[in-house]
Amino acid sequence: MTIIGIDLGTTNSAVSVWKDGRSLLIPNALGDRLTPSVVGLDDNGDILVGRIARERLLTHPLLTTSAFKRHMGTPREIRLGDRRFRAEELSALVLRALKADAESYLGETVTEAVISVPAYFNDTQRKATRMAGELAGLKVERLLNEPTAAAIAYGLHQQKPETQFLVFDLGGGTFDVSILELFDGVMEVKAVAGDNYLGGEDFTDAIVDYYLSSFGLSVSSIERKTLAALREQAEAGKRDLTKHKPFKLSALIDGERKEREIGRERFEALVQPLVDRLRRPIERALLDASIDGDAIDEIVMVGGASRMPVVYGMLSRMFGRLPAAHIDPDETVAVGAGVQAGMKERSEELQDVVMTDVCPYTLGTEVAMAYATGEYESGHFSPIIDRNTFVPVSRVKRFSTVNEDQKKIVVKIYQGENRLAANNLLLGELEVEFPPETSGIRDIDIRYTYDINGILEVEVKTEGLDDVHRIVIEENPGVMSREEIERRLAKLSALKMHPREQERNRLLLARGDRLYEERLGDEREWIGLAMQRFEAALHRQDKREIDEEAERLEQFLNQFEGNRR
Ligand code: ADP
Ligand code: MG
Repeated sequence: MTIIGIDLGTTNSAVSVWKDGRSLLIPNALGDRLTPSVVGLDDNGDILVGRIARERLLTHPLLTTSAFKRHMGTPREIRLGDRRFRAEELSALVLRALKADAESYLGETVTEAVISVPAYFNDTQRKATRMAGELAGLKVERLLNEPTAAAIAYGLHQQKPETQFLVFDLGGGTFDVSILELFDGVMEVKAVAGDNYLGGEDFTDAIVDYYLSSFGLSVSSIERKTLAALREQAEAGKRDLTKHKPFKLSALIDGERKEREIGRERFEALVQPLVDRLRRPIERALLDASIDGDAIDEIVMVGGASRMPVVYGMLSRMFGRLPAAHIDPDETVAVGAGVQAGMKERSEELQDVVMTDVCPYTLGTEVAMAYATGEYESGHFSPIIDRNTFVPVSRVKRFSTVNEDQKKIVVKIYQGENRLAANNLLLGELEVEFPPETSGIRDIDIRYTYDINGILEVEVKTEGLDDVHRIVIEENPGVMSREEIERRLAKLSALKMHPREQERNRLLLARGDRLYEERLGDEREWIGLAMQRFEAALHRQDKREIDEEAERLEQFLNQFEGNRR
């Protein structure tokens, strides 16, 4: 049975498979290896995923949504037209599209996947990701930390038997740093750190903010569509800058054409505060791993936003050398997930690669602290497994009851770094009652076992008593119940995916509609005419004519804004 590897990103997703001794990225119906993580409904209520949906963010904002990965594991519902979806369901629709791409490429049904998640995802978010897989008809064989995936992709290309890596992942909305060690075929994650609210999109926003403030405008003072068009231009411009080309932002505001040119220097000054924020997590990861910057052999760049020269510059100043760039940063995580999928299938070429990982957060319980006066204060957090401990891991810590006649204890299980339990995330609780005929101060051993998938098991054993109480943390706030999953599964399977064969034509129409809305005057008229011509061809249903006209329209649209793959 083939297992696929999936990078389910905030901005872009990708799917891979282990084939002929290497991890291969599978193209989608449009021939692209990246599929934007954008989902929408079309006018018939069919589901659109990827580039078509991304084009429609501007023209159909109420029917389209993006960046839902940020809400994974929260009960929040996102509206699309008159329907509501949880982030797990929207992710499931992306996964379904990737699954369909893989099935069409491989010519067989696919039911198993390895999916990558940010190392920073907590327990709830990880379960939500598994659930998204299940809703898409995929059994999630393994959740793999994204930086670990990147390191696997990279590690296999390494010649040296012993290497320390720093994986620097700057995606659309998040930033992750990991420190890993490859030694004798064993890949070990030593520390992870990051910022869940810093990514390439913030760099785009900085450009738009500069444009607006230079005209004394603000985000709230202009129309939503104008803002979306400016963001488009800023996004494309940011990429041009990577190739050293300056760019212009231009919009018609209050009847007046307003233009600003932005060059490399201006851009770098604008984003300096963002670049500065990249340093702290790097320093923290180095500290947690007890590694000096000099001991890092390679810096692996991951995430589309790591392409920016200003980011490269910061890293080379910080480490006194240039980061490595062997693999396309957009694809590294998916390549690694494909390798992991290959390991799951037990491909022979891969037997010798072993991997370890760390838990991203501290896990502990709530305790009362004793004071010298004999008084107690409850609500304190007592760590049992420290963050960045290797997993799988099992740790026991001994506690004791406070009163001689205490009849029960409630073990509360928390994840987080705060001194006070209430400021951390409550994962669950376990109640243990003592036999009524016994009394006295009791010693209690609490054992936490955290497995390679980030699933926690808690065991409570009271000294002198035989029974052991156990809980596997599965149900917690934000995680859906069995019944709810079943209900949503039924609802999702009733939704039709837009047919794959029509993707290209559909994309052209969506892109033409967007450009028509963005432009004015003559340009708008030309776009309208070109679209009409294409629609007429579609109407006549002659495949050859449609293909020719599609080619013509694509070139025409490219003239306006370049090739936008
Ligand atoms: P995610 O992991 O969040 O899905 P990606 O790794 O695909 O994200 O990165 C997406 C981000 O990378 C976007 O913010 C995009 O603007 C940015 N990006 C992609 N290519 C470039 C480039 N050539 N120059 C600058 N930024 C880029
Ligand atoms: Mg990513």
